[in-house]
Amino acid sequence: MSEKTTSNNEKDETNSSSSIEESVIEEEENPSETVTSKKASSSSASKKKKKEVEADTIEYSKGKQAEINIGTIGHVDHGKSTLVKALTGTFPDTHSEELKRGITIRLGYADCDIRFCPKCSGKEKWTTEETCPNCKTETKVSRRISFVDAPGHEVLMATLLTGAAIFDGAILVIAANENCPQAQTREHLAAMDAVDIQNIIIVQNKIELVTEEEAIKNYNDIKKFVKGTVAETAPIIPLSAIHGANIDYLIETIEKVIKTPKRDEKIDPRMFVARSFEVNKPGTIPEELLGGVLGGSIIQGVLKEGDEIEIRPGIRAGRKVTAIKTKIISIHAGTLGRVKEAKPGGLMSIGTNIDPALTRADSLVGNIIGKPEKLPPVIEEIDLQINLMDFVVGLEERTKVKNLTVGEQLMLNVWTAITLGQITMVKGNRIKVQLVRPVCAEVGTRVAISRRLAGRFRLIGFGNVR
Ligand code: GDP
Ligand code: MG
Ligand code: ZN
Repeated sequence: MSEKTTSNNEKDETNSSSSIEESVIEEEENPSETVTSKKASSSSASKKKKKEVEADTIEYSKGKQAEINIGTIGHVDHGKSTLVKALTGTFPDTHSEELKRGITIRLGYADCDIRFCPKCSGKEKWTTEETCPNCKTETKVSRRISFVDAPGHEVLMATLLTGAAIFDGAILVIAANENCPQAQTREHLAAMDAVDIQNIIIVQNKIELVTEEEAIKNYNDIKKFVKGTVAETAPIIPLSAIHGANIDYLIETIEKVIKTPKRDEKIDPRMFVARSFEVNKPGTIPEELLGGVLGGSIIQGVLKEGDEIEIRPGIRAGRKVTAIKTKIISIHAGTLGRVKEAKPGGLMSIGTNIDPALTRADSLVGNIIGKPEKLPPVIEEIDLQINLMDFVVGLEERTKVKNLTVGEQLMLNVWTAITLGQITMVKGNRIKVQLVRPVCAEVGTRVAISRRLAGRFRLIGFGNVR
C-alpha cells in the first residue's frame, strides 16, 4: 500500500490523470513479469517462487474495453476539456501544467459508457448515468467510448497530428460567444483534413452566454467556415458543457455519426505507439527492474498477453535502425486496468521485457507494434503523391503555399511518427523526401506535410505514400 502512495506522489509531480500512467502504477504493485516467470529460467529460485505466488493473484478486468477513440479539437479555452468532463466525469486537461514544466506534452484521456434508458425515447434516452436522469430507470450500456483530448495551443499542432492518427472521429468545439473561426479552430480542422478524419461533430459551446440571435449568427459563421472541408456536413450541436445542457443530444449524435467501424479480429494486429516510458523508480535493483512500457492505441487486430511482438522501426543508432523483438508481459486497457487481450479503441499500455532505458521519455513514440515480420516496411526515403493547401495553416496573414523545392526541409507526420526530411525530388505532384528518422509506412498511408515558416512548422498539405 505504501508503495502505491509513493508512486502516486511521483505521478502527481510529473504526470497527468491519463489512465496509461495509472495503469503503470498498478503495474508497479503487480509486477508484470510474473506472467512469464514460470517459463523464465534465469531468475533465482526464491525470486521465482515469489513471482509464482504473485502470478496467481493477478486480477484481470472483466469490464468492456472502449470501442472507439474520439478526439476533441478546437481553439484553446473553447471548452474541450470541460466537455470531456461533462461526458466522462474526468477532466483530462494536463497540458498547461506540463507546459509550465517544459516537459513533453501529452494527450489527455478519459473514457465512459454511453448508456440509454429503455423507457425514454428521443434524445432524452441517452445518458452516461447508470440511472435515467428523466425517469430514474436503470439504464443499459450501448458501448464504451474514449476521448483523446487534444491540446488547444498553437505550438502543439504536431501533437495533435500524432493524436489524430488514432482518432475514429472528432468533436470540434467552437465557443458560441466568440467570432468563428478562431486561429486554432481553423488549424485543427485543417489537421483533420490532412489526416482525413471523416466523422466529425461540431459543438457550439457556451451557448448559455449568447442571445438566440447571436447563436444563429455564430451558427451561420460556422456553416460558412466548414464549407469545402471534411466537416462540411457535420451536425452542429448547441450546448453548454459547463452546465451539462444538451449533452443527451450530443450523445445521441455520437451514436449516429461516430459508429464503431467493423473490425476484423483475424487481421494482423497493429498498435501505434503514442507514449513510451520507464516505470522503475530510481535505485531499483537490477533483478527487480520492470521492462519498458509502450502506450498507444491498437488500430487493427488483437494483441494478447504473452504474444511475441515486433516494434518497428525500432531503436536508432546513428542512421541505422534495428527493429525490436520482444514479448507482451502485460496489457492495461484504458481505465479498466489489466486485461488479457486488447482490441482497437481506447488507449492501452503494454509492458514488455525490453530494456527500460530504451522506452524512457517517449523515445519510442511513432513506432508500430505488431506480430514479427508482419508490419509495414521501414522507409528511409519516402515517395509521396502530394496535395498542397492553397494557404498556409496557422499564419495570421493569408499566405499562399509556395511550391516545394529540392533541398527544402519538411516535417512529416506519418501515423504517430514525426520526422524531418529533405526533399530529394519534385516532379509535379510527386515528391521524394530523405527522412532523418525512418518510419513505418505502406502504400496509401496518409502523411501530413509541414514547412518551416515564421519560425515554426506550419501545416501546408498532405501526401499519400506511393
Ligand atoms: P479547452 O482549452 O478548450 O480545453 O477549454 P476548457 O474546457 O479548459 O474551458 C475553458 C474555460 O471555459 C473554463 O474556464 C471553463 O470553465 C469555461 N467553459 C467551458 N464550457 C463552458 C460553457 O459551456 N459555458 C461557460 N460559460 N463556460 C464554459
Ligand atoms: Mg483543454
Ligand atoms: Zn428514462
